[in-house]
Amino acid sequence: MGSNSPPSSPPLADFESQTAEGQSAAQRSIAVIGDAWTLRILRTVFRGKRRYGDFIKEFGVSRAVLTDRLNKLVAHEVLLRDTREGGHPAYRLTERGLDLWPMFLAMWVWETDWGTGQDQDTWAPDVPRRQVVHTTCGHTMQPQFKCLHCLHVVLPFETAAAPAMTAEGPLQAASAAPLVITSAFRRDRQDALHSTSTLQAQRLVRVIGDRWNSAVVAAAFRAVRTFSGFEQALGIGPAQLSARLAELQKLGILSSRAYAGARLEYRLTQAGIALYPVTLELVRWGNRWYWPGKPAFSVQHLLCQHPLEARWHCGHCEAELVRETVRFA
Ligand SMILES: [Zn+2]
Ligand SMILES: [Zn+2]
Repeated sequence: MGSNSPPSSPPLADFESQTAEGQSAAQRSIAVIGDAWTLRILRTVFRGKRRYGDFIKEFGVSRAVLTDRLNKLVAHEVLLRDTREGGHPAYRLTERGLDLWPMFLAMWVWETDWGTGQDQDTWAPDVPRRQVVHTTCGHTMQPQFKCLHCLHVVLPFETAAAPAMTAEGPLQAASAAPLVITSAFRRDRQDALHSTSTLQAQRLVRVIGDRWNSAVVAAAFRAVRTFSGFEQALGIGPAQLSARLAELQKLGILSSRAYAGARLEYRLTQAGIALYPVTLELVRWGNRWYWPGKPAFSVQHLLCQHPLEARWHCGHCEAELVRETVRFA
């Protein structure tokens, strides 16, 4: 990757100072969980497997990488190391970690609609659509992401950045974000780039697990469309931006077309637009846990004019979904 490689991770102790003003909520979330190995660990814990050996067995991670990611998740209070039973510690989700469930559900929904069914990094890739059971009503259903105020399904272009988000400024502090990407992940990423089929199979994690990819997608939701627009909004170098725009097109998340002569305009594809709940959940989670005292939501729902608070609802009985009542049967 050469000059496209992200800078190396700052020491963990820097995390608190990095969460000062100037970083967006989505960036903070991505800084904590935006890494392919971290997503794999969390997905495994949500499935009820909690021990070191479980992770090794589940996805063949090296001990050095696993120890590093577990330590970070504990330091960020996403996981709790539980040694009560003696022997090897078990890892449990904290309240903060449990609150990531809607984002994992968002990833699952996206995968059922747009994935290849081969992605080992999403919730339940081998389970066909319509086999999610809401145990409260007993029906299989497709979860729906709805506004809590007007109960309409949330569509990205029926929302707008509220003043709080504008005041927050562009995502330019990305270069200062505390990264959890390591050389192991970069190698993984590089290998995948050589194989289009691997890339396609893992496209969701390629988007969420790469801070620049997710920043580009977030900017696209704010109607940024040109190369210079992305450069300005993200403070990203031209080589890095070129690589990310190329990858996101290869992944089918962005498409480009010429305008004004030779210039290109980049737009989200249908699959890209469908990432909106995942993006919103990243923002919500980051706001809630790493930006205390700030307005929890900085997006307005244009249909009802309320600050957007969106939650997953049952596609059958329309009740709000809580983790304990959803079974991936
Ligand atoms: Zn609404
Ligand atoms: Zn239901």
